[in-house]
Amino acid sequence: MRRPLVAGNWKLNGSRSANQTLMQALVGPVSGLGKVDVAVCPPFVYLEQVAGLCRDGGIALGAQDVSDQDNGAFTGEVSGDMLREMGCTCVIVGHSERRTLYGEDDAFTARKFAAARRHGLTPILCVGELLEEREAGVTESVVARQLDAVLAVEGIEALSDAVIAYEPVWAIGTGRTATPEQAQAVHAFIRARLADRDPDVARKVRILYGGSVKADNAAELFAQPDIDGGLIGGASLKASDFLAICKAA
Ligand code: 13P
Repeated sequence: MRRPLVAGNWKLNGSRSANQTLMQALVGPVSGLGKVDVAVCPPFVYLEQVAGLCRDGGIALGAQDVSDQDNGAFTGEVSGDMLREMGCTCVIVGHSERRTLYGEDDAFTARKFAAARRHGLTPILCVGELLEEREAGVTESVVARQLDAVLAVEGIEALSDAVIAYEPVWAIGTGRTATPEQAQAVHAFIRARLADRDPDVARKVRILYGGSVKADNAAELFAQPDIDGGLIGGASLKASDFLAICKAA
């Protein structure tokens, strides 16, 4: 049985005082949940602060991005080693905001995925289609292309210790969540595609849903057989909402 995971992607939000308030409200209740893994992914500059606030609270620390490079003349980049040193155990790669707003393509995402693993971080690989791609009926081929780019570089074994997040771009930050049936269909497609290469990896890999997950729709999404938790944006910034989502997993 796959253990559910709920990860909060804070995106470009937070401040020292807001982080402290949020984490203090989460740590006690999350440590009592037991049956779900919980992670938070603050902006880079707050990782050290939030690592201190996570301590002994049963909350894992993740970053929102990682450099494809290990060190050297790469201005503005943050390496996997640095993230490990700050206490991260996981990192989001290929978020749609990186892909669409910052022009990061499948090949670049695959190199970041490889960098995460090279430094002992669990990659949370984001995949998902644009609205026009869904309307054109090419959701599966888009998701397959995004997955295959990583498989081509890293091989199927690399997915055995990774997490996949299916985030339809049209559902992110829009309040328009995928229906449980729409999400389940894509999750099942992803798992079947991996099963073609290695049924054991496919059975074990956790596939999260992301895109307007809220306290009132989390339970029906997480009840789907191939949905193993969520990657939560806006609702991860409010302790009561995020806790309710963690409890639903
Ligand atoms: P929202 O939950 O704000 O829609 O964001 C989802 C997301 O992009 C998480 O990575």
